[in-house]
Amino acid sequence: MSNALVSKQNDCRSCYKCIRNCPTKSISFQNGQASLIAEECVLCGKCYLVCPQECKIIRDDVPAVQAIISSNSEAIASLAPSFLSAFPGVSFATMKKALLQLGFADVEETAIGATIVKKQYDQLCHDPKRDVIISTCCHSVNLLIEKHYPEASQYLADVLSPMLAHGKDIKARHPNAKVIFLGPCISKKNEIEMYPGYVDGVLTFLELERWMQEKSVVLEKETNPAVIEKSLARLFPTEGGILETMAKDNPELTYLEVAGMEECIAAIQDILAGKVHHAFIEMSSCQGSCVNGPAINPAARSIVSSYLAIHHAAGKKDFDVRDYSYGELQKRMPGFALKKKEHSEEEILGVLHSIGKSTKKDELNCSSCGYPTCRDKAIAVLDGKANLEMCLPFLMERAKSFSNNIVESTLNPILVCDENFVIQLANPALQELVGVKNAKDLVGKNVASLFDCTLYSLALGGTPIKSKKIYLPDYERYLYATIVYDERFHIIIAVYRDVTNEEKQQQKDREMVKATAKITSEVIEKNMRAVQEIASLLGESTAETKLALTKLQSTLNKEDKDE
Ligand code: SF4
Ligand code: SF4
Ligand code: SF4
Repeated sequence: MSNALVSKQNDCRSCYKCIRNCPTKSISFQNGQASLIAEECVLCGKCYLVCPQECKIIRDDVPAVQAIISSNSEAIASLAPSFLSAFPGVSFATMKKALLQLGFADVEETAIGATIVKKQYDQLCHDPKRDVIISTCCHSVNLLIEKHYPEASQYLADVLSPMLAHGKDIKARHPNAKVIFLGPCISKKNEIEMYPGYVDGVLTFLELERWMQEKSVVLEKETNPAVIEKSLARLFPTEGGILETMAKDNPELTYLEVAGMEECIAAIQDILAGKVHHAFIEMSSCQGSCVNGPAINPAARSIVSSYLAIHHAAGKKDFDVRDYSYGELQKRMPGFALKKKEHSEEEILGVLHSIGKSTKKDELNCSSCGYPTCRDKAIAVLDGKANLEMCLPFLMERAKSFSNNIVESTLNPILVCDENFVIQLANPALQELVGVKNAKDLVGKNVASLFDCTLYSLALGGTPIKSKKIYLPDYERYLYATIVYDERFHIIIAVYRDVTNEEKQQQKDREMVKATAKITSEVIEKNMRAVQEIASLLGESTAETKLALTKLQSTLNKEDKDE
């Protein structure tokens, strides 16, 4: 089956936001496209939430669930209590009515499974062999530990999650049933594949909402639905909610909650560093826990309101559930630690050098590439996940040095001024033009102190000047001027082409033509007179010679005038 979360190609705009937000850096960026690395991804959904281009897509399992419903008369929905967050103001009874309309045979609360699980947690807390216990309700946290911190796997409570426990419980009561979990989580799609046999399908609340809309199933809101007394485990999807349902009756243990991937990673690192002992830790990948899961309509998302709604809906007592033995609920985690590639210091320094980080000071650690440090980025390049061009400061430096080289070495005078004609930049060719040795002597001065600003005013007013021939009498220079106004950066850029030498040569040529024309004219005049005299002796046959000489004379005169 395809990954529960995939990257749509072609729409990526290289902002690296997904990489920046991915807690495990499980995204590779190649050929201008970001793609999930399934083996490393823990399906926390952060990249899905932050991508401004909506490039990440949750696998659509609605058709598969519809197929299960049509081929099975006993498809039972296990509805996560966080529905109160995804569908504010809607009671369990209303949800059940809607789900029955979609074809489910029955609907139960996943909180039943949560009750079974929390009883196991309470028992584990009395196991003297356990020091630190980490709850295992959040599949993304489980994946995080198993894939990225396998040394911490020993601390995971080896108990089925509420979803799996509920699936097991439903199937024990209804042997032919197919169980479909409905919740706010993407990673649950992966969990049922890793632990087959308990639950047959998973739909996120987003998929459910879309399905209901397609079938015109409307959820009626209730202002004050009755609270079922035995529904304490509805608190599970809130931060600290698991702990609130537990007995917490081992005084040797500290019970605490950690929510949010970064916080979980920090806690795991502390545990591995031996800083934490005698603790039961409720860990959730999402800040605020499952009520803030990734697959909830953003319009409904609110940690505080959801927390209040869940606390309002939860009763004070446990659901009535069957007692399970430890063995019946034991979760056997497959263990699939990632093999991390090792890179030598020399290789890492080689990558750093190629992105202009030759000294420690060059390592800005700005994170614009998506990685927390330049070193992490260099390792990602060696891992084949990132490329050199992802370093924005490096690209900017390179572009700056490229344009600086052009500006500094060109023979064309270049001047940049602000909208008040105050000079910001004058290149060496312009300094030479106006007879100044240092750019510092020009920067800050007004263009008017050098020459007439009329063309600059025109450019500022929206009339770009393109290759206009001008003469600067103070400098005795002929130039072609191109002057444009950059509205975005509020600057006027003038680029000149000095044509003084060509102009002087042309003047010389013109004078030469003029002198030649004068001599020729005099010769013709003389010849004309001779012709007239001969004509009187020879008659009309000389008329053509006369006509040719007259034409030559007028051409030379015309050329003279044109010049
Ligand atoms: S968040 Fe990631 S996938 Fe989305 S546009 Fe930015 S780089 Fe591309
Ligand atoms: S789902 Fe989470 S772990 Fe996976 S790529 Fe996205 S942000 Fe990273
Ligand atoms: S300086 Fe470059 S490599 Fe370093 S963190 Fe910033 S973008 Fe990444």
